[in-house]
Amino acid sequence: MSYVDEVIELVVKQNPNEPEFHQAVKEVLNSLRPVVEKNEEKFRRDALLERIVNPERQLKFRVPWVDDKGQVQVNTGYRVQFNSAIGPYKGGIRLHPSVNLGIIKFLGFEQIFKNSLTGLPIGGGKGGSDFDPKGKSDREIMAFCQSFMTELCKYIGADTDVPAGDIGTGAREIGYMFGQYKRIRGVFEGVLTGKGLSYGGSLARTEATGYGLLYMTQEMLKSNGIDIAGKTCAVSGSGNVAIYAIQKAQQLGAKPVTCSDSTGWVYDPEGIDVALLKEVKEVNRARLTEYAAKRPSAQYHDKATEGTNQWEVKVDIALPCATQNELNLDDAKKLVANGVIAVCEGANMPTTLEATEYFQNNKVFFVPGKAANAGGVATSALEMSQNSERLSWSFEEVDAKLKGIMVNIFHNLDDAAKEYGMAGNYVAGANIAGFKKVVDAMNAQGIV
Ligand code: NDP
Repeated sequence: MSYVDEVIELVVKQNPNEPEFHQAVKEVLNSLRPVVEKNEEKFRRDALLERIVNPERQLKFRVPWVDDKGQVQVNTGYRVQFNSAIGPYKGGIRLHPSVNLGIIKFLGFEQIFKNSLTGLPIGGGKGGSDFDPKGKSDREIMAFCQSFMTELCKYIGADTDVPAGDIGTGAREIGYMFGQYKRIRGVFEGVLTGKGLSYGGSLARTEATGYGLLYMTQEMLKSNGIDIAGKTCAVSGSGNVAIYAIQKAQQLGAKPVTCSDSTGWVYDPEGIDVALLKEVKEVNRARLTEYAAKRPSAQYHDKATEGTNQWEVKVDIALPCATQNELNLDDAKKLVANGVIAVCEGANMPTTLEATEYFQNNKVFFVPGKAANAGGVATSALEMSQNSERLSWSFEEVDAKLKGIMVNIFHNLDDAAKEYGMAGNYVAGANIAGFKKVVDAMNAQGIV
């Protein structure tokens, strides 16, 4: 059996009931075969793959807090410090009822390669909790965030582990967590990114993941001789990534016509009204029914009663920006039948393995999340640089750096795919380019 197959088998055996983690490991290791097989004996002797699929450390802790009725609630908190070969652990905190150890491990594993691809000195990590922020009062959110950080603050720091936002963790939650860290540890340092502008945040961090996704999409299409202007897009999600992806797509002359949340989706043939979407989601924290009620051109579709989603709309580009495995083989077939030319992932692992293969087999350009959504963590690393320098850069400066990083990532992964005879396979290119730097650093640092 090949070394790659042995390690995949081991991961499945040693990590039962973690399907998302298995999926992420299989995707990465399968595409690394040409690199590993070139030097299989050395890789096996040094147990490099076993080391890379095992987190350096994983923390699981109790998070007790008191709700508005005086009832004590108990959630579970996680932080997986996956790999620090190239820098301090870096990765977001997800607050969603679906969170479990396997999901945090899949996200942390992906983060290693994503962070490496940015070219910046950041290792891979991820954290979160099964806490559901939906429907909670501001005081309840603060109580949870303070309790979560009371435990987490023992294990993080500006030079060791720097968490950020993710699903359910936005500016408000980062603020409460930062306040509690400072209160307990007594230091004002860049321990979290995604901070507010008045206390060390970076301009353009809010926009970075969505904007970066579009810079990457534009560059990838350009290198294949296609102009993004005039193309229609289906976007899923209506959170941080989706909103700024829609905004940047419009600025580049494309036309996003859908968005979604966990209960429904909107088709707006005149193009999504970003100002209205922001008001509904960022200000009112409401459902998309409110968007549809205020926008005559929008059609609202309820997911549960209709069993439909935004992937059935005829578009040129699909940008999944909500959550993992939200685009399956049936969705991929509909998109291909409708003539989609590109799929670029804003979310982490939103496309199933079967759907990814279907796109690749049907000559659809497919850029995986670890490359396409790396603009968020890249700008977080820029926030860390500004915090260390005690300086703030202008929006234009950060945005220009972000664009440069995304263009660079595309060419790195494109070149890596070509070097290994897989031109156009951006999944393999991203995994290989990200992996090589981490492995070089691990080799240089000995058996640790
Ligand atoms: P938000 O919490 O801001 O928004 C998430 C969006 O996805 C919401 O519209 C939400 O709908 C929807 N959603 C979440 N979970 C589900 C689910 N299980 N089923 C259907 N819809 C769901 O998160 P972000 O925009 O920050 O993150 C979106 C994705 O992008 C995630 O995969 C995240 O890991 C990834 N990402 C985020 C980065 C960032 O900088 N924020 C950086 C890189 C990747 P509802 O409100 O109804 O729950």
